[in-house]
Amino acid sequence: MLSTTVKLASGFEMPLVGYGTWKIPNNVCADQIYNAIKAGYRLIDGACDYGNEKECGEGVRRAIEEGIVKREDLFIVSKLWQTYHEKEHVEPICKRMLADWGIEYFDLFIMHFPVALKFVDPAVRYPPGWTYTTDSLELKFSDATIQETWQAMEALVDKGLARSLGVSNFSIQTLMDLQKYNRHPISTLQIEHHPYLTQRKFVEWAQRQGIQVTAYSSFGPQGFQEIKGMDGLEGVELLFNNKTINAIAKKHGMTAPQVLLRWSTQRGVAVIPKGDCAEHLAQNMANLNFKLDDEDIEAIYKLNANLRFNDPPNYGFDCPIFA
Ligand code: NAD
Repeated sequence: MLSTTVKLASGFEMPLVGYGTWKIPNNVCADQIYNAIKAGYRLIDGACDYGNEKECGEGVRRAIEEGIVKREDLFIVSKLWQTYHEKEHVEPICKRMLADWGIEYFDLFIMHFPVALKFVDPAVRYPPGWTYTTDSLELKFSDATIQETWQAMEALVDKGLARSLGVSNFSIQTLMDLQKYNRHPISTLQIEHHPYLTQRKFVEWAQRQGIQVTAYSSFGPQGFQEIKGMDGLEGVELLFNNKTINAIAKKHGMTAPQVLLRWSTQRGVAVIPKGDCAEHLAQNMANLNFKLDDEDIEAIYKLNANLRFNDPPNYGFDCPIFA
């Protein structure tokens, strides 16, 4: 079973519903990826930073060996971490990530953040995270520009190591700058997008540019509860408990998570939720099976509170890129 797809500026098709892999513990990750593929997911959204790419690859391998899918049926996404933004580090780290997955190419390779951090040798720490050392929250920046990094990513496409390129956590200004020199298309923009942070003008602008938008954290605060000591969650109502979302869910005989996902997919915005069990996997994929009314979409837009959770300062880092 293949989910609905969107066409990327690179010419490739990308599934509208994928499976996110952030925070999947290593000991269950291979099983979860395998189960997601078995449940019909074809897009797997990974990242070097998630520290579980080997296990993701193991799940993929098992699904291929059992004949559930072929490699070409899958759309595998990964993200370049900030410590590898200097041009000489981009290809070696991409090759290491491909080796961890056990694949020859990424369907989509994304610049994770528009921030360049000082190189940390993978032999010293991998994945390295934001901070230069593990005993301090201090960040050390690299001089690499976004142009240098993007052009090194374009070379990955030239060499067949990646098929499409994208960016994540970019603002409109950084994207407009990138558009002045990119040689390969900016196929996707992955951003935090949920009813508390709708970023409507940004999403609609990107779509007008032919850049496909992927929403991360479609359930708003839900996934961030898994992170101990994170700021920005106090007093925030969970979207699964929200009156408007539940009234819309009841009207359509669907669940709150399905409404939250459909609010994006119906507007052509891809989603990448992480269901932890068979029921959630099936439920999330089935968001495609109903239609919200226009008034539902607008009522959900009205919940916007410009409330961003995945903001570096919320983790204690002095890097307010969205300020
Ligand atoms: P999530 O999709 O993991 O959802 C949050 C929580 O909802 C999880 O605890 C999950 O167990 C639960 N859940 C999922 N489906 C459910 C259902 N049907 N019913 C009830 N509970 C359900 O949110 P997230 O981790 O914030 O984001 C999803 C993905 O987005 C990540 O795995 C990652 O791939 C990507 N992401 C990217 C960035 C970035 O900087 N580019 C940042 C954050 C997340």
